[in-house]
Amino acid sequence: MSQNVICCRSLVHTPKGDNMLNEARSILISRYEEIRGILFEMYPYVSPTKLGVTDREECSVFSVKDNAIVLNFPELNLRDVIEDEHQNLQTLLAQSQGPPAWLRELIHETIHAFEHRVICQSTTTEGKELFTQVQAARCGPIDAQHAGPFYSAVHHAASTLGIEPLQFIKNCL
Ligand SMILES: [Zn+2]
Repeated sequence: MSQNVICCRSLVHTPKGDNMLNEARSILISRYEEIRGILFEMYPYVSPTKLGVTDREECSVFSVKDNAIVLNFPELNLRDVIEDEHQNLQTLLAQSQGPPAWLRELIHETIHAFEHRVICQSTTTEGKELFTQVQAARCGPIDAQHAGPFYSAVHHAASTLGIEPLQFIKNCL
């Protein structure tokens, strides 16, 4: 099985202007730097994963080979990115209806980056426990690309973002 491209999300796309894409891309890069800074704070030696943003009608991916995340966003998501520009991260994460789709997708792919750059193929004790809980509660993605190593990275992300892990999975993944 190819571990190269992790393909997780697919959203409905409609045509849009380049200006919106460019504006959203620059905001998303700042958001990504902030989230990456939190998740990778203890791992300064890990070379940063690049972020690309397009409006292609494809699912967003993390590529192991390229060490790159590519977010492929429809117009609705790009608009929301721009609208949410001045909201702080913790406010967006704490929204009662859950964080916006663009943020969930960005976090999801950043977790895959952490999984492959730091956790590698291993599973931490916390990740194993969390994966068992997720299987029992059926509350998160479960397949070959979302197993022990992924949930080890999820546990780390939840802890560093200050959110209880199962709550984090229900709201953010
Ligand atoms: Zn995924």
